[in-house]
Amino acid sequence: MKEQVREAYGEKPLSPRRDPLHELISTILSQRTNWRDEDAAYQELRTLGDWDAIIAAPTEQVAHAIRRSNYPESKAPRIQQTLVAIRDSPGGYDLDFLKNMPVKDALKWLTDLPGVGVKTASLVLLFNYARPVFPVDTHVHRVSTRVGAIPKMGEQAAHKALLKLLPPDPPFLYELHINLLTHGQRVCSWHHPKCGVCVLRARCDAFAVFGGRVPSWKG
Ligand code: SF4
Repeated sequence: MKEQVREAYGEKPLSPRRDPLHELISTILSQRTNWRDEDAAYQELRTLGDWDAIIAAPTEQVAHAIRRSNYPESKAPRIQQTLVAIRDSPGGYDLDFLKNMPVKDALKWLTDLPGVGVKTASLVLLFNYARPVFPVDTHVHRVSTRVGAIPKMGEQAAHKALLKLLPPDPPFLYELHINLLTHGQRVCSWHHPKCGVCVLRARCDAFAVFGGRVPSWKG
């Protein structure tokens, strides 16, 4: 599967796209939000000042700053609580201790933060610290299930199930994540997947069963 999506979307060398705390907060903002609105929300959030200033700001002001993201009223307190927990941790706002912590412990530390799920934690660990985890977002989940790599299960369980099938090789995991995500956005969409032009068609269980009439994804 990795070879086919690499051929379609190219090699993706592993390198952090933004600093770890930016990645963490942006991923919280990205939940149920497209990347343009996520970025706009993050940029406006940072106009409130440094992380200490964001913690100290009234929660309504934080919610207003991130209003381009969906559910700002519930995300604002979670972001503030997460920042407080990080500020009060041994490394303060520096998350680099995650680099050397056992992966299981690092995942637990991150997912214990308010509003941080396994996807967000995995993104930070893989993208920023090249740790061997595999983030499963909605696109990766849908494509992996339709092709038959994993049986139907929730996104959370899919993290473990897919990781068991994949080599513990961060560059491999990074490229596969990015290319499956791209494939889900461009070809294997929620409704009317474009099976006629799909590079995974020959190995896809859903295509084998439904031909060109793969049903809409119900999650
Ligand atoms: S063949 Fe269709 S359902 Fe299967 S991965 Fe490709 S686009 Fe998705």
